[in-house]
Amino acid sequence: MQGMIRRDPVSHRWVIFAPEKAPILTRSSSEDETLLPGAPDACPFCPGNEATTGAEILRYNHFPHLNNGWSLRVFPARNPLLRVEEDTRPQGNGIYDAMHRVGAHEVVVETARHGGAIDLISPEEFRDVFLAWRDRSADLQGDRRFKYLMIFKNRGKEAGGTVNHHYSELVAFPFLPSFVESRFRHAADYFAFRRRCVVCDIVDQELADQARLVEENEEFAAFCPYAGRFPFEVWIVPKRHLLYFSETPHEAFLALTRIYLAVLRRIRVALGAPAYNVVVYNGPSNYDDFTKNPLQFFHWHIEIIPRICGMNALPLGGGGYINPTLPEDAAAFLKEKG
Ligand SMILES: [Zn+2]
Ligand SMILES: [Zn+2]
Repeated sequence: MQGMIRRDPVSHRWVIFAPEKAPILTRSSSEDETLLPGAPDACPFCPGNEATTGAEILRYNHFPHLNNGWSLRVFPARNPLLRVEEDTRPQGNGIYDAMHRVGAHEVVVETARHGGAIDLISPEEFRDVFLAWRDRSADLQGDRRFKYLMIFKNRGKEAGGTVNHHYSELVAFPFLPSFVESRFRHAADYFAFRRRCVVCDIVDQELADQARLVEENEEFAAFCPYAGRFPFEVWIVPKRHLLYFSETPHEAFLALTRIYLAVLRRIRVALGAPAYNVVVYNGPSNYDDFTKNPLQFFHWHIEIIPRICGMNALPLGGGGYINPTLPEDAAAFLKEKG
């Protein structure tokens, strides 16, 4: 495997160099299935084409009347960002630090069905996706080499999706990526000062305010975040304090599925089926070298970013964001039109 992981000595930011990943330059922003490659017979994720993917890690067949042999599959990514078998020894060159691309990168094919709107799948069936995320992340978090487990979904070309079949990905990093490390530092500072989890406090305030709330059920709240970076960004947060996605109790997954599909339905209907990204923010794995008091300070949640805005949502000089839509207006629009 070509490439490596390097650390910038000033910002301490780790960067994965993956020369095989060509930049994706697209203009389309729709998840309309005709815009994506892969009719069912040519789709690597459709039933019948299992041999084109890597060796299966997990398979569910909980709805045998709906499919032929499986309802969900997990396998290693064909072009992984990181690989389990890479050498873990750190490397150096003068002042510079580097390491091999050790880690894990798995693909979850969320349904045997090809394409279509995700919210047309029943919550009972879709719950399997979250159970697979839980089972795979619990397994990968057990590997002491890995410091952060990211779960994400890129749906539609504009969001980086490559196949018109609902799939998500898990990546286990051997370092804390900078986009989570800064969150952990701030959340740990908040906890050290107030002795409370910042995400628990956010949920309490959003439930009290109601102004940015999009959906709520017995276990979860979904809202447009107060200082969202992107228009119509929505967070889904468990009301219980939970550090890792994998700690979510079994009885909460149906509530998670219901709110997740309800939010995606609102985004599809209100915004015209845009491409979108879903990212699960987890606590740090094997956190012993991060902070002495880590179990309480962070709280897993999902962030959903509809890709509707093009240039307006680009990072400003890499540090700030320009968002043309106030979260209160975005929440009202999703509730009214979605
Ligand atoms: Zn397919
Ligand atoms: Zn919390």
